Amino acid sequence: MREYQNSFRQTQELFDTPRSTSRIIRTKPEKQYKNIVIIGAGVAGINAATKLVDNGYPGEFITILDKGNDPINRLPEEVMTGMLGAGGWSDGKLTYHTEIGGQLSKYCGDEKAMELMDQVISNFRRFHPKPEEIFMSDPQEEPEFIKPYFGLRMFPVWHIGSNFLHEIAKNWYQYLLDKGVNFNWNCEVKEIDFSNNLVKSQFNKEVVEGFGNNYDFEYDKLIFAVGKSGIDFAQKLADDYKLPNEPKSVQIGVRFEAPQKYFQKLIDVSYDFKLYQKFNNVSLRSFCTNNNAAYVAVEETYGDISYNGHAKKGEEFRNNMTNFGILMEIKGIEDPFAWSRDVVQKLQIDGTGTYYSPNRTRKPGTTSENNTVSAVQVDTMDVLFNALGEEYAQYIEDFITNMQIVFPKMKNDWGIYMPEVKYLSPEPLVNYNDLSLTTYPNVHFVGDALSARGITVSGAHGIYVAESLLK
Ligand SMILES: Cc1cc2nc3c(=O)[nH]c(=O)nc-3n(C[C@H](O)[C@H](O)[C@H](O)COP(=O)(O)OP(=O)(O)OC[C@H]3O[C@@H](n4cnc5c(N)ncnc54)[C@H](O)[C@@H]3O)c2cc1C
Repeated sequence: MREYQNSFRQTQELFDTPRSTSRIIRTKPEKQYKNIVIIGAGVAGINAATKLVDNGYPGEFITILDKGNDPINRLPEEVMTGMLGAGGWSDGKLTYHTEIGGQLSKYCGDEKAMELMDQVISNFRRFHPKPEEIFMSDPQEEPEFIKPYFGLRMFPVWHIGSNFLHEIAKNWYQYLLDKGVNFNWNCEVKEIDFSNNLVKSQFNKEVVEGFGNNYDFEYDKLIFAVGKSGIDFAQKLADDYKLPNEPKSVQIGVRFEAPQKYFQKLIDVSYDFKLYQKFNNVSLRSFCTNNNAAYVAVEETYGDISYNGHAKKGEEFRNNMTNFGILMEIKGIEDPFAWSRDVVQKLQIDGTGTYYSPNRTRKPGTTSENNTVSAVQVDTMDVLFNALGEEYAQYIEDFITNMQIVFPKMKNDWGIYMPEVKYLSPEPLVNYNDLSLTTYPNVHFVGDALSARGITVSGAHGIYVAESLLK
């Protein structure tokens, strides 16, 4: 068993660089193997590494860099960074359909997409301490009572169980360590030199005595898997290297929370239901529904607060609440990223997000660690109208009004956390057969850094790239 710490391996050499204060880490040349560096130990990066070592690729030639912590030292509240990334640490609903979770079929076709998703699910099963507790929800029929106000998107979801995720992460980590994979934690990649195949990184402390914190990692193949917490870095690279992008839409809204009992009739049909409404250039959907032990999670991106949610398993966490995003997709906005950021900033008060409930006694809830969810409570929805503009805020208000009709017992017993946002990363143009940049074919983009929005699709991207490298 190897120790849980950053270490440079015997297969690696440390070089002084004459031109800078950093040192170069170079894997000793061995003709038949390429030196693969993976930035991001999230769902995409870890699935890629697993596919490689499962197929005999020596772990010594795989180096993973992550700015977060290993699964032993990662705290529950470190939601975005570290082993297994974002949703792989705090939630565990694996969607199982090609139309959910971002783009996959576009690259490889429907049949291959399903096969790749199967591999991701079987990885979670394999490192699960109690695989028999995994279950699948698979709603079949759209119930009459939600018509004509909503459509219901139906697709299977595998429920891994949030409170098993930390153990899964540890088991998975141990497997990769045993296979010889090099992990470097608390190591933030600051720059990539695509022309000289160098990843420039900074550790949060000195790793080798006297060598400082800055190291450059040489690669033959690079897998860029930084997820949502690396979106600003991905944006910088896209700008610096003028990477051509595919056009994107805005995805913004609120996180809705109410007692679960009002939704039970629908939950009985579809455990994590997805309601949707479609208009001309706008569509709305309920997103990432959590029940039973449902907690709202605070996210921080670019120094601003937004919201998400997750569910815990186990009676001790039960709070009988339901939460989900009401996300609006707006097409045709010229700079969707700048537009979304502006809206998010307008929804901040005193350095945090906002909360509104028409029922004055309802307050922001608590996290699963029993801390109050950070949000400033406001008296009206005006703040949302000011941020989004009349037309778009009205869609959200109407969505809630329609829910009050469909779930009549709910009345005013609900609250919204503002905003929830999905900053879709700039999606660089890639070669569809291996997700490599059209301009730098030894650099592969995967997961949320490409076009994914979920665990299964992100993991599938990673496996897809690994398969291409194994060829
Ligand atoms: C609270 C929450 C709940 C979620 N629940 C679900 C769910 O139930 N089901 C679902 O399908 N999806 C869910 N998601 C979305 C899902 O987590 C992501 O789609 C998925 O994790 C993306 O995988 P990834 O590997 O691309 O990125 P991530 O899993 O985010 O991993 C990226 C990794 O890169 C590292 N990193 C970033 N920048 C750098 C850098 N510069 N240098 C070094 N390392 C870096 C980070 O530390 C992180 O570990 C949830 C997300 C959140 C935040």
